[in-house]
Amino acid sequence: SVKDKVAVITGSNSGIGLGVAEELARQGAKVVLNSFSDNPEDHELAEKIASEHGTEAVYIKADMSKGDECRALVEKAAERFGKVDILINNAGIQHVAGIDEFPAEKWDAIIAINMTSAFHTTAAALPLMRKAGWGRVVNIASAHGLTASPYKSAYVSAKHGVVGMSKVVALETAEEPITCNAICPGYVMTPLVEKQIPETMEKYNMDRETAVKEVLLDRQPSKQFATVEQIGGTVAFLCSPAAEQITGTTISVDGGWTAL
Ligand code: NAD
Repeated sequence: SVKDKVAVITGSNSGIGLGVAEELARQGAKVVLNSFSDNPEDHELAEKIASEHGTEAVYIKADMSKGDECRALVEKAAERFGKVDILINNAGIQHVAGIDEFPAEKWDAIIAINMTSAFHTTAAALPLMRKAGWGRVVNIASAHGLTASPYKSAYVSAKHGVVGMSKVVALETAEEPITCNAICPGYVMTPLVEKQIPETMEKYNMDRETAVKEVLLDRQPSKQFATVEQIGGTVAFLCSPAAEQITGTTISVDGGWTAL
């Protein structure tokens, strides 16, 4: 179980990262929230999680586009809690444009935040996990880590890269009590996705149900969004004894997207 384990979740002041942090806290983990901002609300989020679930939580600012800040996040978490048992690489951004028009600075930012950050945080966390004799690295990739869509060159490249990196980390830790896997969500209901529903309804002149099923969930055969709680539950499963021999692989939470 994750009880009293220390979990660092990158990009966790909203969406999936926050949902994963809440689920791990609910199951008794001490959690480290992160993003690049440093607002009172960020710290309040950590206080709320701690008091709601009777555990400890802290918010640590670090910009995942910068390698030294990625490593500092893990080091500060270890200073605060004495160890880092679980690392969830979740921070991510998106930009949509044809490859011939794709801004180079957007490409660089997506590769840095969605992929290279996981290299730095994992490099910093593995020695701590080895010292403690237990560790779980879970990378939040995407269905776009296994398949592609047009106009998402940087995102698809970064997510495929994260899936590849997860396999390498699994092999380098194969004989140790450490595992590394990637979760590949399809469309997950987050505030960002919720915001797209009225926009899509207006753009295509559709009612809510049609806009969701035919446009947003076009590629998701279940015609339902995954939830952040389900991603949190999948992370918890990967940290459970049942998953001890699961390493170097992907778990799709995509309503059948990658079966198509
Ligand atoms: P989101 O925008 O709600 O969350 C992204 C998080 O990353 C936020 O907390 C944001 O503050 C943080 N972040 C962005 N840039 C950062 C930086 N430079 N440094 C530190 N933190 C930074 O989006 P989300 O949907 O929750 O996405 C979380 C992850 O899940 C991403 O990696 C995304 O690619 C992946 N994902 C999402 C979906 C989906 O449908 N929502 C599907 C598949 C994969």
